[in-house]
Amino acid sequence: MAAAKRKKILAGNWKMHGTLADARALARGLAERVGKLEDREVVLGPPFTALAAVLEAVKGTRITVAAQNMHWEEKGAFTGEVSPLMLRDLGVQQVILGHSERREIFGESDEWIQKKVASALAHDLAVILCVGETLAQRDAGETLKVVSGQVEAALRGLGAEAKGRLTVAYEPVWAIGTGRVATREQAQEAHAEIRACLKGLGLPADEIRILYGGSVKPDNVDGLMAEPDIDGALVGGASLEVESFTRIVEYRA
Ligand code: PEP
Repeated sequence: MAAAKRKKILAGNWKMHGTLADARALARGLAERVGKLEDREVVLGPPFTALAAVLEAVKGTRITVAAQNMHWEEKGAFTGEVSPLMLRDLGVQQVILGHSERREIFGESDEWIQKKVASALAHDLAVILCVGETLAQRDAGETLKVVSGQVEAALRGLGAEAKGRLTVAYEPVWAIGTGRVATREQAQEAHAEIRACLKGLGLPADEIRILYGGSVKPDNVDGLMAEPDIDGALVGGASLEVESFTRIVEYRA
C-alpha cells in the first residue's frame, strides 16, 4: 500500500498529567477543533483515571481513546494493574504498549510486552507498540538492530489478528521529552527498517502505520510527516495543549 493510502494517525500520550477537569477541558477543546476530521485519525491517551471522562467528552466525534498500558491477564491478584476486559468495559478502543518509560522505569521486558500485545489484540483492542533505541545504542551504531529486535520480540507469533489493528511507534529514547527531535532522515531510516522487519514477520507491512515519537512539536511536524514511511506521530508534551496538538493534527506535508 502506498504511503498516501495509509491514513495518518496523530496520537497524544498524556502520560501522568492532569486532573479530571484538565482532561475534560483538553478533550472537549480537541473535540471541537479536530473531532470531525475524516482524512486522519486522532487518538487521545489520557491516564487511567481520566479514560471515562475523555470517552464521554469525545462522544459523537471521530476521536478515539487509548489507554497507556494494561496487564495481559483478564483478572487476578495483580494489585495496581488494569486488564484488557476493564478497558473494553469502559469503551476504550486501543492501548499504547511498550513505551520506553514502561520499559526503562518499570522494567517491562520484551516478554511481557509480547504477552500484552497478544492479549490486547485477542481482546479486540488496537495496539500502538512503541520501540526505540537509547542514545548509547545509537552512538554504538546499534539503532536498527535494537529496533528490529524489539519489533520481532513483541510481535512474534502474530498473524491475521494484527490486521488493521496494529500500529508501531518509533520513539528514540533520547528524543523523548528532551526537545531533541530525530532528523527526518534518522526517523525515515528507522521506519523503513521497521517496515522491512514487519514484512519479514509475515505481517501486512505496507498497511501497518508506523508513527514517529520524540519531541514532535508544531514547528517540526511538517517535515517529519513528509517522509514516505512516517505515517503519523505519537506526541507527549505537545499533546497537552489544545493549540499545539491541533497544529500537529493539522500538519502540512
Ligand atoms: C512520548 O512520550 O511518547 C513522547 C513522544 O513524548 P514527547 O513528545 O514529550 O517527547
